Amino acid sequence: MTVCHDPRRIVNAMTIDVEDYFHVSVFDGVVPRHQWDQLESRVVRNTERLLDLLAEHDVRATFFVLGWVAERHPDLVARIAAGGHEIASHGYGHRLVYDQTPAAFRADIRRAKTVLEQTTGVRVDGYRAPSYSVVPRSLWALDILIEEGHTYDASIFPIRHDRYGIPVSGRHPYVIDRARGRLIEAPGSTADVAGMNLPIAGGGYFRLLPYRWTRWGIRRVNQTERRPVIFYLHPWEIDPDQPRLRAPMLSRFRHYFNLGRTEERLRMLIRDFSFSTMIELLEKQVPAARVDQSTGPLPYVW
Ligand SMILES: [Zn+2]
Repeated sequence: MTVCHDPRRIVNAMTIDVEDYFHVSVFDGVVPRHQWDQLESRVVRNTERLLDLLAEHDVRATFFVLGWVAERHPDLVARIAAGGHEIASHGYGHRLVYDQTPAAFRADIRRAKTVLEQTTGVRVDGYRAPSYSVVPRSLWALDILIEEGHTYDASIFPIRHDRYGIPVSGRHPYVIDRARGRLIEAPGSTADVAGMNLPIAGGGYFRLLPYRWTRWGIRRVNQTERRPVIFYLHPWEIDPDQPRLRAPMLSRFRHYFNLGRTEERLRMLIRDFSFSTMIELLEKQVPAARVDQSTGPLPYVW
């Protein structure tokens, strides 16, 4: 195996949304929340497998941890932090932002940030919404994130999708200046193909499409645009033995397809590209982001 030592190699962000298989939004309504505690939890062992894999390859990552998981498994959060990884917030109860009132959203992210910070003693900067649910009708969430002390958000996907996305929003990290402060937006990564933003870096797309699609897309952004991508994955995506939940066919397909191949693909990805934490990526990218997008109004309606 040859390892590329190109000093100009772009360092991408590796991000993991730490939740259990039954938290996933496609199972909303299939598994009532009050039953979560009765289901077999697999998040600890799956996250530990990811930690081992990352340690093997000396990769640091950002873990967006669900507050609900952190409350039940504080040792896991401590272990992630002890591995040199960044701890960020995935909210508390995995409710879609646009299904919450602003007050409920504030309570949810405050509870998550508090439990994560109390567990590690380190300030939590980042937030990623369940299912990228910051969309045009829930942009009010960005002001609340600023007020609650977050410095970056990773919840806006600049694509067209049935459940999320703001297709006209920026493809690379940018600064949002608001009356109450500043937030850096770190969007889900896409390749610009004939004027269309196509998702390239993680989740269902990583599992459902051949690996060469991800490799082509990340190479295109790294080499042609000289910009990093933000890759994302969930611990349940490397767990082919998770209990099967009853859900509509399309949801089942999206959730269960290729689970047995994801870990091997992740190894290929880590071999083919360089990765580090989100905060490291943003520290390098923000000066560029400020030139690119300035601090003026966003290119979409507030
Ligand atoms: Zn999630």
